[in-house]
Amino acid sequence: MQSSLIGKIEKAKRYAQETERVTFSELSVKFRGEHDTYTTEYKDGKWHCSCHFFSSWRLCSHTMALEKILGNMLPKEALSTQI
Ligand SMILES: [Zn+2]
Repeated sequence: MQSSLIGKIEKAKRYAQETERVTFSELSVKFRGEHDTYTTEYKDGKWHCSCHFFSSWRLCSHTMALEKILGNMLPKEALSTQI
């Protein structure tokens, strides 16, 4: 293997530990809830979720779970709660 590629692989391993280097600007996931599967998205600085709860509260267990999963990889404005 070329030494330049070996260097990149080493760097990638280090970067993978330093998750604060990565900030999602948008994302879309299929979220399997207990009763149904929902589309949960972060786009244009806002959360969206196809579940019923979200439509009245603008947040839900799915958006809050993603905040917890992604933690410091989300922009500050995406963190609506301190859970
Ligand atoms: Zn939801």
